[in-house]
Amino acid sequence: MDFKLPKFLKHGIVMVKLRKEVICTRILIIEDEERMARTVQNLLVKHGYAADIAFDGEMGLDYVLTGSYDLVILDIMLPRLNGYQVLEAVRRHGLQTPVLMLSARSDVEDRIEGLDKGADYYLAKPFSSGELLACLRALLRRPKEISSSQLTYGDIVLDTDSGRLSKGDKSVMLNKKERDVLRLLMQKEGQPVSREALFSNVWGIDSGAESNVVEAYMSFLRKKLAFVQSNLRIASLRRIGYCLSMEEAAS
Ligand code: CA
Repeated sequence: MDFKLPKFLKHGIVMVKLRKEVICTRILIIEDEERMARTVQNLLVKHGYAADIAFDGEMGLDYVLTGSYDLVILDIMLPRLNGYQVLEAVRRHGLQTPVLMLSARSDVEDRIEGLDKGADYYLAKPFSSGELLACLRALLRRPKEISSSQLTYGDIVLDTDSGRLSKGDKSVMLNKKERDVLRLLMQKEGQPVSREALFSNVWGIDSGAESNVVEAYMSFLRKKLAFVQSNLRIASLRRIGYCLSMEEAAS
C-alpha cells in the first residue's frame, strides 16, 4: 500500500490506530460460486481491503460472528444456510456489521426481503466493479452504531475491548486469543463451535499454529472461568467441537 506516515506519527498508539484504519478494513465475502468470490476478492484486495471468503452460509456465519469484519458481502443462494438465514442469525446475535447483499435474484420481493431482514444494501448481479466499490465506500462511511463492548452469557460478562472477564465483583483479564475464543463460544449461546471454526477464526488457517492450540486455550479459559467462580463450563464434544454449558447446581 502506498502510504507514508508523517514522522511525528511514527510512535506508539497513534500509529497503531492509523494502521488499523488505513490498512485493516476487513471484508468477508460469503459466496459459493468460486469464480465470482475470487473476482470480488481480487477487486477488493486491489483496492486496499483485506478480504476473506466463506464458501457456504454456515462457515460464513461462523466467520461473521467473530466480530472481526467491517463489512459483509453476502450472496443469497448458498449451501447449508442461505443468505437470508445468515443475515437473520447475524442480527439476532446483535451484530450490526454492515451487510451488502449480492445476488442474481433481482426481483423487488427479494430486495424487500433482504432489506427487511437487516441488509444495508442490495446489489443485483451482474454489477460493475465501480458500482460495488462505491456501495462499499458508502456503507463503510456510515458512522458505526455505538454498541456496547459488553457481551453477556450465563453468569459472565466479557468486555470484548479490554478483555476483562467478570462475574459479579470477580474479574480476570484475558489475552487477545482467549478473548476471541470465548467471544465465539458466548455468541453461540451454548451451541457447539467446531475446532476448525475456532482455529481458522482465531489463529487463521495459514497461521502455522498447531491445531492442538485450541485445546490448550480451552484449558486456559476453563481456569479463568473457575477463577471468577462462573457456573459455566466449556464442554468438549467429541468430533463436534466445544460449547458453553451451565454446571448443574449441586444437590
Ligand atoms: Ca450462490
